[in-house]
Amino acid sequence: MNKKKLAQFRSQLESIRSKLLGGVEKSNQNVKESEIGQMADISDDAACAYNRQLEGELGEQGWQKLKQVDTAIEKISEEEYGICAQCGNTIPEARLKVVPYTEFCTQCLSEMEKNLKAISINDENPLEEN
Ligand SMILES: [Zn+2]
Repeated sequence: MNKKKLAQFRSQLESIRSKLLGGVEKSNQNVKESEIGQMADISDDAACAYNRQLEGELGEQGWQKLKQVDTAIEKISEEEYGICAQCGNTIPEARLKVVPYTEFCTQCLSEMEKNLKAISINDENPLEEN
C-alpha cells in the first residue's frame, strides 16, 4: 500500500480514536490536559488505573474498538498495516475502507464467527460430569 493511502487510513483511524476518547473526556472534565500530556511519564500502576477507568467509561465495545484502532495505528507505523493477523494475507482495501481498524481478512473473520458459534453451542450443553 502506498504512503498516501496509509496516511489517509491513519487520519481516518485517528479521527475514530479522538471521537471515542472525546466522549470520555466530556464526562471527565476534571482531568487537565497537562496531566494527559504527561501520561508517558507516569508509573505503570497509574497507567493501569487510568486504563481501567477508561475501560469503564467506554464500555466493553468502545474499549475493544479503541484497542483495535491503537493496534492499527501502530501497524501503520511499523508498515504492517492491512495484513491479516491470522493468516498473513493482505486485507482488501475495500474492507479497510469500511472498517479501517480491522485486524483480520474477511475469510478469517467468517472462520472465527463459525468457531464462536460452535463455542456458544457447547456452552448451552455443559458436560454432564460437571
Ligand atoms: Zn486472514
